[in-house]
Amino acid sequence: MNSTIEKFNEHIVHSYGRYDLVLDSGKGRTAADDEGREYIDFGSGIGTNSLGYCDEKWVEAVCAQAKAVQHTSNYYYTKVQADFAAKLCGLTGYKKMFFGNSGAEANECAIKIARKYSFDKYGKEAERYVIITLVNSFHGRTMATLSATGQEVFHNYFFPFLEGFVNVEANNISDLKAKLKENEGRVCAVMFECIQGEGGVVPLEKDFVMAIAEECEKNDILMICDEVQTGVGRTGKFLAVEHFGVKPNIVTLAKGLAGGVPIGVCLTDEKTCEVLTPGTHGSTFGGNPIACAGGNAVLDRVSGEGFLESVAAKAEHFYKRLSEIDEVAGVDGLGLMIGVRLKTKDAHDVAKACLDNGLLILTAKEKLRFLPPLTITQEEIDKGIEILKKVLA
Ligand SMILES: *Cc1c(COP(=O)(O)O)cnc(C)c1O
Repeated sequence: MNSTIEKFNEHIVHSYGRYDLVLDSGKGRTAADDEGREYIDFGSGIGTNSLGYCDEKWVEAVCAQAKAVQHTSNYYYTKVQADFAAKLCGLTGYKKMFFGNSGAEANECAIKIARKYSFDKYGKEAERYVIITLVNSFHGRTMATLSATGQEVFHNYFFPFLEGFVNVEANNISDLKAKLKENEGRVCAVMFECIQGEGGVVPLEKDFVMAIAEECEKNDILMICDEVQTGVGRTGKFLAVEHFGVKPNIVTLAKGLAGGVPIGVCLTDEKTCEVLTPGTHGSTFGGNPIACAGGNAVLDRVSGEGFLESVAAKAEHFYKRLSEIDEVAGVDGLGLMIGVRLKTKDAHDVAKACLDNGLLILTAKEKLRFLPPLTITQEEIDKGIEILKKVLA
């Protein structure tokens, strides 16, 4: 038995299913284990290492920040945070943002803003606190975000869950309208992922997203888009919601935003940016300067000339290569967020076999899932696909 794995299992709570792989280092899109074996990475730490491993400019930015100032409390200002926030608001067209450290925290912030927006405007007695989320969604692991998550498998053990969440079937406009009617005057927000990631890479239909926007606008309900997985260039646009032609009041970002250091952001528009006031929300580590420095490197790269177009082009190549494989029944997704349905093989067995052959991939529900670094090259895609083909043969 590997001594790292032994030590790990002895001292770390067993809350994840892990592969027997100890990762030691990485360069670009290739990871290496503790025996020097190399793996092409089509998972990027679940869409987090958006620039791959140890990108030169990203490493420089993070190291320089660690040498300058690694943390300040939120009693003070830092330039690196201000620069990051200005850049992110500029790229997304949002007015202001709040810093957390994870996707769940970003969504917690969104939930709190939605409830306080209605509390401030309609009063406590109105009980206008219901948040509509979608069946098969995933919003995080804290108590509020678990409650928001529309999958019964997550609603176990930790009772009581937070009340005030109602689930609507994805892409079912009449269900949306029915649930809004049932909860008339009590709904403060609708929250959704443009592409359900953990739910199995399930994209929403444009008509459905537009119906959400229309209902929200009509009833002064906030529209919240959870772009923790889909955001920051993943789909070939900076925000995935840009594909749908709507502008949510709140957008949350995390995973790929800082290239692999912890960050979570809640973006707010003109309507929602003044809801939180001093003392109503906070996070000690939120907006950590090292994370912001990494974030600045990511934002500079992703907003660079032709970068998003290159993501879309690489995605197209990826889909084409995948659809040539016999065992592939279908490919879903948008940009470099890709789900693959298989005809006969079990996705988890395939992921394990890929690992044994030098390729890291993910699964989501019964599908294979690919979230490669946005910097992946066409050659690396081809190399990974060859391994996948061999495994699926
Ligand atoms: C991963 C994910 C989260 C949770 O993010 P954490 O950083 O693990 O808290 C929330 N929403 C979506 C859509 C995600 O993919």
